[in-house]
Amino acid sequence: MTFSDLPAGLANALAERGYEAPTPVQAAVLDPDLRERDLIVSAQTGSGKTVAFGLAFSAQILGSDGQVQSTGKPGALVIAPTRELALQVSRELTWLYQNSKARVVSCVGGMNPSQERRELKSGATIVVGTPGRLRDHLERGTLDLSELAAVVLDEADEMLDMGFREELEEILDAAPETRRTLLFSATMPRPMEALARRYQRDALRIATGGGERGHNDIAYQAVTVAPSEIENAVINLLRFHEADTAILFCATRENVRHLHATLQERGFSAVALSGEHSQSERNQALQALRDRRASVCVATDVAARGLDLPNLSLVIHVEIPRDAETLQHRSGRTGRAGKKGTAVIVVPFPRRRRVESMLRNARINAEWIDAPDREAILAMDRERLLKTLLMPVEVDETDRKLAERLLNERTPQELAAMLIQAHRAKMPEPEELLINSPEAQAAARKERQRPGFDDVVWFRMDIGRQQKADPRWLLPLLCRRGHISRNQIGAIRIGPRVTHFQIPRAAADKFADALGRTAGDENGGDVHIELSPDAPQDSTRPSRNNGPSAGRKKGASYAKKPHKDRPANSPERNGVPGKKPKPRKPKKRPV
Ligand code: ADP
Ligand code: MG
Repeated sequence: MTFSDLPAGLANALAERGYEAPTPVQAAVLDPDLRERDLIVSAQTGSGKTVAFGLAFSAQILGSDGQVQSTGKPGALVIAPTRELALQVSRELTWLYQNSKARVVSCVGGMNPSQERRELKSGATIVVGTPGRLRDHLERGTLDLSELAAVVLDEADEMLDMGFREELEEILDAAPETRRTLLFSATMPRPMEALARRYQRDALRIATGGGERGHNDIAYQAVTVAPSEIENAVINLLRFHEADTAILFCATRENVRHLHATLQERGFSAVALSGEHSQSERNQALQALRDRRASVCVATDVAARGLDLPNLSLVIHVEIPRDAETLQHRSGRTGRAGKKGTAVIVVPFPRRRRVESMLRNARINAEWIDAPDREAILAMDRERLLKTLLMPVEVDETDRKLAERLLNERTPQELAAMLIQAHRAKMPEPEELLINSPEAQAAARKERQRPGFDDVVWFRMDIGRQQKADPRWLLPLLCRRGHISRNQIGAIRIGPRVTHFQIPRAAADKFADALGRTAGDENGGDVHIELSPDAPQDSTRPSRNNGPSAGRKKGASYAKKPHKDRPANSPERNGVPGKKPKPRKPKKRPV
């Protein structure tokens, strides 16, 4: 199958765009025997899945003359997990179908709904949207799916993961049973099968590219750092690679905001992309990257899926991804359409094991290296400067005269030095890193095996990430409540609503005793702290036994009083001590 076998409208659009031949996934779905089949397609990131599904449903929406025979009601629907991705897919399908009389309408959260309603009313062939907004239009009766012939779930696994099952089911239930259903993603984990069984008929699985050995165009590197040096390492990585476009992934919106501010301060042209920005800010951020007004994007995982930014050659996992799939999708923002790219995972020493196992799961071979240091960066700068300054120049008359005047006043060496300095002044300063010196490694090892912490007891308190738990205010609170010093507090694990921490067994009785006495005190007495029956779940150190009984008998409730160190939105108690919270329905992830 080649593009020239396609209806003329599509073939022309592809030729105008400069696409010569189908990618493997495009060739696979274009097999004439599969025209009517439901498909589950997994093909690696950047392999052209958008055009693949765009072409796949052409059989459903084009007449025998290769043009849309418009009925006004949508014939194809594409659902994507994020707003940016839906908008991107909509743009891609718009050019693909520009010569085929198809109307592409997008229905995307954060965009203007009344405009979308108007466009839907005046007739759409292909609708592209995010689950929530599509459902809104469906419920208001502005989206009529009664003649839908094909539906595509792009990044299908992510949509389930984000908790969009209800929306998806409502939308799919509104479409005729005879429609085709196509699921696409680079990763297709197990839970997809239930959805596939329910909403597809006799679906065929297609898997192309990548295969057993990960992505051929992405070079993976893992860079170990001391936890306190993450930001400096990121700065040096950016400076070393000097990518046209780089994307940096953080775990939370707050961390995006913080790192973005730091980078801007340091002179990088950076934009931020997370759920905390308005849609127009988000669109502008991406546009700035496309126009090269910005070269660095700091993002949450909202940008992990599907986005296709030209010239993006560097991905940095500033905070390690939550699973092997996210690792692949984030990294897949580079190495697209046959271009090469680098994905760097910044690994704080204590997380090394976790990253190793994640890489194994994803069958990725990463090169473990040190973060580039100042010398390495300056050496790269010199190379790049020479290359830039030795490029051919066009000199017009005015410039030539100016140059001659300068040469009368200064030596060529002086002028060249000034030129170099001027270039260098535009570059942010690299950081001095202590991170990988033997001393730092030894310090990190020592940190992990602090004396007195080989036999510990875990305690827990009813404050977690939701209450903005942070060691900076937790430590003083614990010292005050338990009459101990900071040095006597070992590992702290902050969970969503509970924080676990270690106290050396030798000090545990005294600590528990003081807790009882300080309950109800002015500062922090309202925080419920008790001996923990278990070590926290992600703890590598199992608790050995239940330790002294003193902590337990004081486990009842303490008087509630406002506490100045705690944020105003402090929550209610975290249920009965020791009782596991009920598993909840997956909540939509805020990203
Ligand atoms: P995926 O969804 O598989 O991650 P995309 O559909 O976003 O990948 O495509 C990745 C890039 O490849 C895009 O920039 C797209 O324009 C380009 N591309 C797609 N198909 C072709 C083709 N046949 N020839 C050349 N480039 C292509
Ligand atoms: Mg895609």
